Amino acid sequence: MHTWDNGFRGKPGQGMSHTLSFGGATSFFRVPYQTDLTEVDVAVIGVPLDIATTNRSGARLGPRAIRTASLSLAWERPWPWQTDPMTALRVIDYGDCEPVDGDLLSVSHIEKHIAHIVNSGAAALVLGGDHFVAYPSLRAHAAAYGPISLIHFDAHTDTWPSSGNGINHGTMFHQAALEKIIEPASSTQIGIRTTNEDTMGFHIVSAADVHEMSGRDIARQIRERVGNSPVYITFDIDCLDPAFAPGTGTPVPGGLSTFQALNIIRELKGINLVGMDVVEVAPAYDHAEITALAAAQIAIELLCLYAESHTQRKKSR
Ligand code: MN
Ligand code: MN
Repeated sequence: MHTWDNGFRGKPGQGMSHTLSFGGATSFFRVPYQTDLTEVDVAVIGVPLDIATTNRSGARLGPRAIRTASLSLAWERPWPWQTDPMTALRVIDYGDCEPVDGDLLSVSHIEKHIAHIVNSGAAALVLGGDHFVAYPSLRAHAAAYGPISLIHFDAHTDTWPSSGNGINHGTMFHQAALEKIIEPASSTQIGIRTTNEDTMGFHIVSAADVHEMSGRDIARQIRERVGNSPVYITFDIDCLDPAFAPGTGTPVPGGLSTFQALNIIRELKGINLVGMDVVEVAPAYDHAEITALAAAQIAIELLCLYAESHTQRKKSR
């Protein structure tokens, strides 16, 4: 039987399967495209929006690039995890949330779209778009779970105060902290290598710290800080060094390797993960899919983390 084109014919929960990586419908890791959220554990959703960028735009093409790159990786349980997230979880590709004509940032529209997923009982894995998309996503998550602890991978703190009335992809966590939808006291920012005098109370593991510490020690600090609180992982791809992620709008040299970032994620098992995003992939500046592949790998390992953390938490109850 033909098994390819699982984007149309696959079933949620069927596990990673060998598919034709160079053809067919490009859903995320070849999970089925569907809008029915019944009994779904995780809905992957693209938000192709990049008008909140302050430097180079192009992240609107990120969701498509990540989906395409994911097909090269969609064939076996991700190493070194013990769980196939596509068997342990019923994962679907929920398609993209289109911005509204004339409402450039579409905050309430994106928030409602993600709230619909969260309220159905599924978790959302959001593919950006620029980092601003984390703001409506966090609003939707906070409405369901209360204030959220952030595990934030980035070269930038994104907690700069807005100079005008608007919010952009460098100020949305300042706004989110003011609105108390995130809890800086239980949150950590990893990979920071830009200056912002006001940390707003976030714990910061700078890029230099990551180069000197083990992934295990960093993860321990993060886990101790979040405790049992609801956690959202937001991964700005510019956390990685431009050598590992050239395809992004605001690159900063001196960052993490893909391995260093994955090595931290692999040590975070047991946290109360409720939502995730991978943002700021801008394929026009990419070479040989380096950035899109890194983003797809990070996204699938976030799903592994979600799968194993939930199994572990169920067991310990
Ligand atoms: Mn950044
Ligand atoms: Mn960012």
